Amino acid sequence: MLKHHLEALDILDTPVWVVIPDTETLLFANKKAKKLSAGRTLSEMRNGTYSAYAQHSLSMYLPGLQNQDEVVEIWSIGPVSEETSLSCRASLRELEDVGDVLIFEGIYGLTPTIPKTSRAAAYQSRKQGFYARFFYTTSAPMLLIDTARDGRIVDANLAALHFYGYDREEMCQKHTWEINTLGRSVLPIMSEISRLPGGHKPLNFIHQLADGSTRHVQTYAGPIEIYGERLMLCIIHDITEQKRLEQELEYAAHRDALTGLLNRRQFYHFAEQNQTGSPDFSLLLVDTDHFKHINDQFGHQRGDEVLIALARTLEATCRTDDHVFRWGGEEFLLLLPNTSLDVALAVAEAVRQAVASITMPGLPGLTVSIGVACHLPDESLDELFKRVDEALYRAKNNGRNQVLAA
Ligand code: GH3
Ligand code: MG
Ligand code: MG
Repeated sequence: MLKHHLEALDILDTPVWVVIPDTETLLFANKKAKKLSAGRTLSEMRNGTYSAYAQHSLSMYLPGLQNQDEVVEIWSIGPVSEETSLSCRASLRELEDVGDVLIFEGIYGLTPTIPKTSRAAAYQSRKQGFYARFFYTTSAPMLLIDTARDGRIVDANLAALHFYGYDREEMCQKHTWEINTLGRSVLPIMSEISRLPGGHKPLNFIHQLADGSTRHVQTYAGPIEIYGERLMLCIIHDITEQKRLEQELEYAAHRDALTGLLNRRQFYHFAEQNQTGSPDFSLLLVDTDHFKHINDQFGHQRGDEVLIALARTLEATCRTDDHVFRWGGEEFLLLLPNTSLDVALAVAEAVRQAVASITMPGLPGLTVSIGVACHLPDESLDELFKRVDEALYRAKNNGRNQVLAA
């Protein structure tokens, strides 16, 4: 199948979004999907008021999908004033001219909603049976929830009481929206989950414990019928530590280890996602003058200290919307969104002066040379870099410690 064949999906009454997982960009939305999303971006649908998912990064789903795992996310759709939730099932396909894509199909109205009259009385009066024994003795925290009664917690096993820090009486007076940091916005999500066919789906939330602290949890929630009552069984898995490690890894993947600045790969990621504030953005290529002397005379470690001091100075001198990247050894790149050449030159001059006023005990003064270029309409990144490189080269040849425009 080719990309332009996707238009055939317009005849479906089911909303379908086709997404490129690596760049998290929307490749195609059929007519129904466009209508439902009401102009929202993929990220806005995945991170709206009623959104929930098991993986923040879409490419993390790929191994599971290759093993035929079922993946469901809950998206927020519609105009802001009428925001609503929609469950979307993901599947993996390959397009000959694009590569792997994720297909998100909206699923709704598969089973009738739980009648409003539902009561958990039958469960409460008969909770001696096999089911209850299983529920109480399992070491995974579990909650039994009545979605028809505003998400009331009907029962909690010992592991859940231990995890949340409430006694059974306190726990069973609470509603899910009192322990979920989404508050009442979690209710439409739960109602979506209770209608999903085929059991429990992993979704991530932040839950608050009795002592006020919060934990990242992955919940497996799904409908369950016990003693004739339709309730929801929610199994809670604490993923706080996993989240912390993920965040650490993500930070390490995006940042340069020495200076903590964004790395070169992140620049291309920005550029790919069109976050350059295009078309009117400017680049400053900043190269430290005679840096090799510092290493040679004072040692590599002091050289490293200088690079860190330069990084902090660049961050402190540029404006809040600008981005600073460690481009290579002693070179830095500043991306200035929505910035004309004149303004970029002024920022570059401020950077040059700020660097010239750095004082480090035992070290000589520092200077930088800066090439500046403003992106031209229809100019490729390669062409732009050629110009900014050339401006820097001229600044060096002109005697260094200066700013030159391309
Ligand atoms: P110019 O004014 O022409 O730019 O001269 P320069 O000495 O700055 O340029 P050159 O490219 O000759 O040298 C750059 C040096 O930066 C060489 C390399 O050893 C050093 N360098 C690159 N990365 C690091 C690093 O992470 N730490 C330290 N301490 N030095 C580094
Ligand atoms: Mg250099
Ligand atoms: Mg240099």
